[in-house]
Amino acid sequence: MSLQTNISDYADPNLHAHGLYIGGAWEKGGGIPVVNPSTGEILAEVPDASVADALRAVDAAEAAAAAWRATPTRQRSEILRRWFELMTRHADELAKLISLENGKALSDARGEVGYAAEFFRWYAEEAPRVGGEHRHTPSGSHNILVDHEPIGISVLITPWNFPAAMATRKIGPALAAGCTVILKPASETPLTAYAMARLGEEAGVPAGVVNVLTTTNPGKVTSAMLEDPRVRKLSFTGSTGVGRILLAEAAKTVVSCSMELGGNAPFVVFDDADLNAALDGAMVAKMRNAGEACTAANRFYVQAGIHDAFVAGLTERMAALKIGPGSDPSTQCGPMITTKAVQKIDHLVSDAIKLGGKVHTGGAPLAGSGYFYPPTVIDNVPVDAAIAHEEIFGPVAPVYKFETEEEAVRLANNTEYGLAAYIYSQDLKRAMRVGKRIETGMLGINRGLMSDPAAPFGGVKQSGLGREGGVTGILEFMEAKYYAVEF
Ligand code: NAP
Repeated sequence: MSLQTNISDYADPNLHAHGLYIGGAWEKGGGIPVVNPSTGEILAEVPDASVADALRAVDAAEAAAAAWRATPTRQRSEILRRWFELMTRHADELAKLISLENGKALSDARGEVGYAAEFFRWYAEEAPRVGGEHRHTPSGSHNILVDHEPIGISVLITPWNFPAAMATRKIGPALAAGCTVILKPASETPLTAYAMARLGEEAGVPAGVVNVLTTTNPGKVTSAMLEDPRVRKLSFTGSTGVGRILLAEAAKTVVSCSMELGGNAPFVVFDDADLNAALDGAMVAKMRNAGEACTAANRFYVQAGIHDAFVAGLTERMAALKIGPGSDPSTQCGPMITTKAVQKIDHLVSDAIKLGGKVHTGGAPLAGSGYFYPPTVIDNVPVDAAIAHEEIFGPVAPVYKFETEEEAVRLANNTEYGLAAYIYSQDLKRAMRVGKRIETGMLGINRGLMSDPAAPFGGVKQSGLGREGGVTGILEFMEAKYYAVEF
């Protein structure tokens, strides 16, 4: 790593207030270096919150809770709308910041800012629309009235791969529902979260409604918050391994959990697919964020008749991508987040090669500063290789050949994950028939991108619990209350 470079050399000074944000106050400090993965240099330091800091954040969230819950939904909606507008106005600066601390290409970062801001717009629109229910009991004994109340103080934990969008996908519905929150962003990418909190302040979010803290001790800090009976919700996005730990932690106080966890998306291409469309979709599904996405196509299953043409086309496109630092506007594939991430990818690819895999492009880490792994296409890999079962989280496309529809379904479902899947076929009946049998929370049919704030995002099996976004996303932050009424 090179010497510390001040983040203000790069980013708008209004957007880099990197201190703990508790009860509307910024508390400067250090302890966590933020590294630019494109160069290995340190961009800034952010504070390392203790358990006591986290409990102060719970105090702040509690102090703000009653007033926020009582704030009319129209008013909550207007604050979220202003936050959306501020993010849109500062889109270029936010994209630069994301690109610096995460490494993703600027075009991906710009896409993320737009996507992230849309969660505020969407939930600004949903806030006043939450309805209740009235029914008569079948016996005629009484009336059933159902109201939805804010669930309470919510702890939000987010990963580094979408530092803006994973935060807004939680903050938007939580605030719309009337909850106050404590956000703990990933240690690798805290600057974006703090920048957004700054914009939230400007949008009029009252002190204590949103609190943000960074820590090197996420386990202890989170346990302390979950053990505090005032905390009623945990919304987590990250790996399945950490999700399992947190579910066990939350069980102690029976805290409601939403879990957006890992994926291992199959990308199934049938002989009757439009080859160019499938290749376009494959590039999006694989290379958004250089493969560091939970929805990333992790396993390409291609039917025998189209297999060779698909491999040739994918190789040509992957090999043509420009690799470089995220903040260079011409970059199409930025670095991985850490050296450790590069090592993991290298291990999976080396193992696949050992098992007979044939590399068509890429296949080994790049030397030099920054954490780069090149776009890689590999086929002839056995379907039980580790690369078919673990999240690659990088720009590597393993392609497997299949013969029959039945085989495609079996291979696609041969995983503990079930977040996203893709099917390419010009026969919509076939795509729907196969799609129904694939165990997944989300399915792209002739489409390589599915994320949309208006759609329910989430997985089945060990990819998670609950849904974010869409009409139902707000209900994750609400409890139904039933009134039995005689009238
Ligand atoms: P991670 O290691 O699970 O970390 C995610 C967050 O959890 C970070 O903020 C991390 O903090 C925190 N954390 C780690 N250990 C913890 C503990 N014991 N208690 C409480 N918090 C803890 O995942 P990641 O590497 O950042 O992200 C990649 C993973 O996220 C992939 O598996 C990907 O598929 C998944 N993901 C899923 C979705 C989805 O919507 N399903 C979306 C994006 C990403 P530190 O940074 O301080 O360690």
